[in-house]
Parts: sequence; C-alpha cells; structure tokens
Amino acid sequence: MYDLGIIGGGPAGYTAALHAGTKGQKVILFEKDKVGGTCLNRGCIPTKAILHSAELYEEIKNSESLGIHADNVTFDFAEVMEHKNLVVEKLRKGLELSLKNRKVEVLNTEARLLSEHKIEADGQIFECKKIIIATGSEPKNFNGMERDGIFVLNSDDILNLSKLPKNIVIVGSGAIGIEWARIFSAFETDVTIIEAADYLLPAADIDVSKRIERIFKSGKIKIYKSNGVEKIQNKKVYLTGGEILEPEIVLVAIGRKICRIDNSDSVICIGDACGEIQLAHYASKQAVECVDNIVFNKNFVPFVVYGNPEIAWAGKREQDLEEGTYQKATVLISALGKSHCDNSTEGFIKILSQEDNIIGVHIVSKEASAMLQQIIIAMQNKISVSKLKEICFAHPTYSEGIFECLFGL
Ligand SMILES: Cc1cc2nc3c(=O)[nH]c(=O)nc-3n(C[C@H](O)[C@H](O)[C@H](O)COP(=O)(O)OP(=O)(O)OC[C@H]3O[C@@H](n4cnc5c(N)ncnc54)[C@H](O)[C@@H]3O)c2cc1C
Repeated sequence: MYDLGIIGGGPAGYTAALHAGTKGQKVILFEKDKVGGTCLNRGCIPTKAILHSAELYEEIKNSESLGIHADNVTFDFAEVMEHKNLVVEKLRKGLELSLKNRKVEVLNTEARLLSEHKIEADGQIFECKKIIIATGSEPKNFNGMERDGIFVLNSDDILNLSKLPKNIVIVGSGAIGIEWARIFSAFETDVTIIEAADYLLPAADIDVSKRIERIFKSGKIKIYKSNGVEKIQNKKVYLTGGEILEPEIVLVAIGRKICRIDNSDSVICIGDACGEIQLAHYASKQAVECVDNIVFNKNFVPFVVYGNPEIAWAGKREQDLEEGTYQKATVLISALGKSHCDNSTEGFIKILSQEDNIIGVHIVSKEASAMLQQIIIAMQNKISVSKLKEICFAHPTYSEGIFECLFGL
C-alpha cells in the first residue's frame, strides 16, 4: 500500500512526488515517457534554451553602438540545438536524482486509474491511499491543418528541426507562437504570424498586444490579424481573408489538448490536465497545495512571455474594467537610466489600481518577469499603493519604473 500514487511525471506530478517524499510518504510515480513532462522535455526549458542563443546572437550583432565590434558573428543551428539537448538532459538527470533521494519509486510505464485507490500498470495493480492524476496536455491537431511533422509542425516537432527554414508561417500568437516568432526572427528566418483575434497575444492587456505588434512590425515580422487558416494543402496556406501563403514550414501553435485519463471526481487532478491555467508554475503550486495544504491565490498567477523584451502580467486587464472605476499609470522604459545603459529602452510598465490597491500590472521590458514578481507580492498581501511608495528602490534598476509608476496613480 502506497501513501500516494501519481500518474504523470511533469511539474504537477514530480512536484507532488518530491514534496510527499520529503514528508517521508511512500510514493509511486508513473511516467509513460520522460520525467519532467512537457515543461522540461518539450516546453518551457528547451524553448528558453534556444531563445537564449537566438537573443545572444541578435544582441552581439547589435552591439556596435556599445563599443563592441564582433565581426562576422555567425551561429551554428545544430550546435544551438545540441546546447538545448544538453540543458534538458542535465536538468532531467537532476530531477531523477532528486526523486531517488526522496525515495520516490518511479515506474517508466503507462498507467490507468482503476478506482479511487487503485492504479493499473504493466499488468499489476498498485493500491494507494491517495491518487493524483497529473497527465498534462499535448498539442492539438486541427481540422484543415493536420500535422505531418515535415511541412506542418507542432510545438513538439519544431524542437527537432535539423536546419532553419528560410521562412515560416506561425499560426497562433499565444506565448508559444510569440516565443518562436522571436527565435526565428533573431536567426534571420522570415516570419509571418496568423492570428484569428483582432490583436496579437489575445490573452494580454490591450496595450501590451499593441506594443508587441509594433515591435514585431519594426522587426520585419509579418502579421495577419483577424485571419484564420481555412486549410493547408499542397504546401500552401489558405487564409480566411483570401491570401495564399507558401512558406517552407508551418508551426501550428493554437492550443493544447487536455490528457485527462478519468472522469472521476473522487481523485485529485492537477496541472494542465485539470483544464485550468496551462502553466508549469500553476501546476507545481497545485501540487504543493495538494500535498502540503498550502493554498495559493489563483487571482495572482504570473504570466510571462520570454524574449526581448519580456512580456509579463498579472491581475486585471484594462479592457475588462469599466471606464471610470479604476486608476492607471504608465511609465516608459526609456525614462529609466538603466535601460539606456543596457541599450534596452523598449517597453513600458502599466499599473492599474482601485481604491489604493493594485489590481493589475502589465509590463513589456527587459527583466519584466522579475519586476512582476515584486508587484505580485504587494497585490497578494494587499500592500497599498501608498505603502509601496515608502519602499526604497535601488538605482539604476528597471524596478525604479515601478516606483515612478506608483506616483501616477
Ligand atoms: C512550447 C511550450 C513552452 C512552454 N513554456 C512555458 C513557460 O515558459 N512557462 C510555463 O509556466 N509553462 C510553459 N509551458 C506550459 C508547461 O509546459 C505546462 O503547463 C506544464 O508542463 C504542465 O505540467 P503538468 O505536469 O500538468 O503536465 P505535463 O508537463 O504535460 O506532464 C504530464 C506527464 O504525464 C505523462 N502521462 C500522461 N498520461 C500518462 C499515463 N496514462 N501514464 C503515465 N504517464 C502519463 C506524460 O508523458 C507527461 O510526461 C510551455 C508549454 C509548451 C508546449
């Protein structure tokens, strides 16, 4: 009899396993593929490793005005991918070791939920006092743009590209679409984005979407908004607006399918599979909530889209608020001394407040993810705008922009 049985070894499953293991519980974890799940093997980590190489290449090329002369800067895409593979392998080994150290039994096999306390795998039945389903999600296949792994790729396939295309069509401008657009564009591939909504990154605040569009256009990324894909046929992409595109490859990044393996209310389901927010930190916080009973506030989940500049937000968006019911202040990143030192002046910090409390924050800037976290701490702990004004922010930093912004509310 196990204290805890977990199906799925992504951030939700492995975090639950590690925390229960730390408490001395007898834990069994079933993973049909590789521990680390989507995040480590096909998501957050590999994309950010490639993105870092892309950004570095772009930054070095553009560093003449900072007194850095690097002639003939080149990149080797195969080596970029090799670096990505090494990062993933290193982190996976570390995770495997942590699971071992916590005495978590890991079975590398597909598992099935039999009942509230029973899991079946490899023809055996495992009895568990508590079971967690953490089976995650996978890329969706869409009618009219079926993936073939050669011309039409999903977010898994694209991680195995052996050479860069000259041009690419990216369908969908969510976080995955935006990050890959940045990667390809930095590596000098011509990028075209197709977005069905009226704005890029539709989940973001409207000002963020508009700014990203402006940045992308100045970076020569082509954008078709309010445009769907009717079909993909004979290596041609037919848009609902009537245009026909002929890219070298297509990346379809318009959503993920939940891999729920049960329809039972009697077992706990966490992470992507539970159908709430599909983010690794949301998954791991749910795991901690479930094992350690540390409840987390789901109103203040950070959203980050990586690349240069970062995009980060939490709380309410301006388009969801009724006019006249809130205050807003915006500070341009170019107003901060640090941004000029770094040659990174693009972006803004926007804070929304109601009755002296911050209700939303939207940032486009270098270090946006780090700045966001400071404001989330304030929001969640109801530290008022007036109180925050008493805090001393270091100079020169991007965080000074938060301080400036507070005085506009
Ligand atoms: C390209 C990309 C980039 C991303 N970037 C970010 C990011 O920057 N930040 C962020 O927060 N999130 C990011 N995400 C989302 C993040 O990866 C997911 O939210 C996170 O992995 C969800 O964790 P999970 O444990 O719920 O599911 P998963 O990570 O999907 O893990 C589920 C695991 O369960 C296993 N499994 C399924 N069924 C069974 C079964 N029957 N038996 C045994 N094992 C099974 C699967 O093999 C898988 O390993 C990204 C996703 C993608 C695709």
